[in-house]
Formats: sequence, structure tokens, C-alpha cells
Amino acid sequence: MDDDFELGALCSSCEGEGRVSDPKVAVIAGVPQTVVTSRPCRWCEDSGRRRGLRPPV
Ligand SMILES: [Zn+2]
Repeated sequence: MDDDFELGALCSSCEGEGRVSDPKVAVIAGVPQTVVTSRPCRWCEDSGRRRGLRPPV
């Protein structure tokens, strides 16, 4: 994706969701299981869009 440098470009990490899935392996009662949680996207800070690297003047 080349959109990262455009102002307000859709975040390519979370695809605009503002959250990313965060699968983890948890051992519950001795059985390893995959638990998928979501957490705020650290790239766009939950907004789903990234600011351009150059702010408008
Ligand atoms: Zn994001």
C-alpha cells in the first residue's frame, strides 16, 4: 500500500477498523487454546486512519 503518506489515508494495519485482532495462545485447564481478542490499533490510535507524515500548513 502506498497510501501511508497521504493525509487521512486509511490505516493499512487495521484496514480502517481502528482495531486489530490479537490472537494469543492461552492454556486453559491444561489445554492450549487460541484466544482472539482485539486491541486498539497502535498505528492509527483507534481512528482507522493515519495522519500524513506532513501536517497541512
Ligand atoms: Zn489502524
